[in-house]
Amino acid sequence: MKILVANLGSTSFKYRLFDLGDPAEPVLARGAIERIGSPSSKVVVKTAKGGSETSRPVADHGDAVQLCLDQLTDPETGVLADASEVSAIGFKAVHARNLTGVHLVDDAVLEAMEAFSDVAPAHNPPYVKAMRMLRDRFPGLPLVAAFETGFHRTIPEASQRYAIPEEWATALGVRRWGFHGASHRYISWRTAELLGRTDLKVISCHLGGSSSLAAIRDGASVGSSLGMSPQSGLPHNNRVGEFDVFALPVLLRETGKSLEEILQILACKSGLEGICGANDVRDVEAAAGEGDIRSQLALDVFVASIRHYLGAFLLELGGADAIVFTGGIGENSSRIRSMTCRDLGWFGIELDPALNAGGPAERRISAEGSRVQVWTVPTNEEIVVARQSQELLKSGRSAIA
Ligand code: ADP
Repeated sequence: MKILVANLGSTSFKYRLFDLGDPAEPVLARGAIERIGSPSSKVVVKTAKGGSETSRPVADHGDAVQLCLDQLTDPETGVLADASEVSAIGFKAVHARNLTGVHLVDDAVLEAMEAFSDVAPAHNPPYVKAMRMLRDRFPGLPLVAAFETGFHRTIPEASQRYAIPEEWATALGVRRWGFHGASHRYISWRTAELLGRTDLKVISCHLGGSSSLAAIRDGASVGSSLGMSPQSGLPHNNRVGEFDVFALPVLLRETGKSLEEILQILACKSGLEGICGANDVRDVEAAAGEGDIRSQLALDVFVASIRHYLGAFLLELGGADAIVFTGGIGENSSRIRSMTCRDLGWFGIELDPALNAGGPAERRISAEGSRVQVWTVPTNEEIVVARQSQELLKSGRSAIA
């Protein structure tokens, strides 16, 4: 079965085509179309037979998918004889009201996503818009939404609940949902492969543009640092992370801004950027290295929050077999990793400075005698979505857990 996995931005469409009929699950093609809607979109495609990088107008996401299907069936560089070989487009969908798992996209799913547009403002609106367009334009091509929250449905009730009135939690879906499910699921699976067993306690640290930790026991999530929305938990590149809602009346009163304006600042101008003005950890680290105090503070706040959840999850799991760093920061920043693991020898966590400093992307970075193994593992969210999409199609149902 061939599954196209799509990653949507408001003006971008990135894809990978997987052949899940082959046990090696190869990527047959990958591509990206950027600046959709502008007079000159950047169009990149790469297959085993070749690739190209061109500029041309691409009006909307419907045109982008048509272009992608044309690329896949191109007589010279394409990998499919016919576009009908694509069994489905799988999406890593973020959030929907009182709905999780893996779903065939229909009106009810789109409405549930729309209902939580204000909870996931950076993600839901572009996805809903593009999915509606694709459904109209390619009615025979199943669209699959694999929700980021699905992996976390195994979190015990006590850790899901906010201490709020019952009906807010049950009827309105105000609870800790957890996100980054595809990434944490992949890390759980890959760690089991690397360590050769599945009865593992793993703390998965996805640190990137948005960041979260997950506590995983025997392959199932039992804790996430993300809560009701992707703005919660750790500080993100430009989103606030954990925040006390009773600061809101103060901000409304003192700044004269509306609730929407304040939420916009918390969702787009806060996090690392709010503290130091830069939101890419490479820039923050460089500025801190040159003595910029606010950049150092941003790194310190970020790491303090990682350690906060790391400590909580070590207790939740009763220790850990492995701590795994992934995401753009987790995979690449030896500094954030060493700050995170500093002075944790008592907990059996000890890095090997040389292994932490560099090596293959996927490697153990803990010292030989460290009781807890520490790894960096590049995540692969797309293969998770492809597998989930296949599982749904094979089930013949419209939704699976
Ligand atoms: P997203 O969560 O948006 O998918 P990524 O997981 O790709 O993002 O992470 C992107 C972030 O990774 C960048 O914003 C940057 O902060 C960080 N990053 C990438 N490379 C490095 C590096 N070499 N050192 C430190 N941080 C890095």
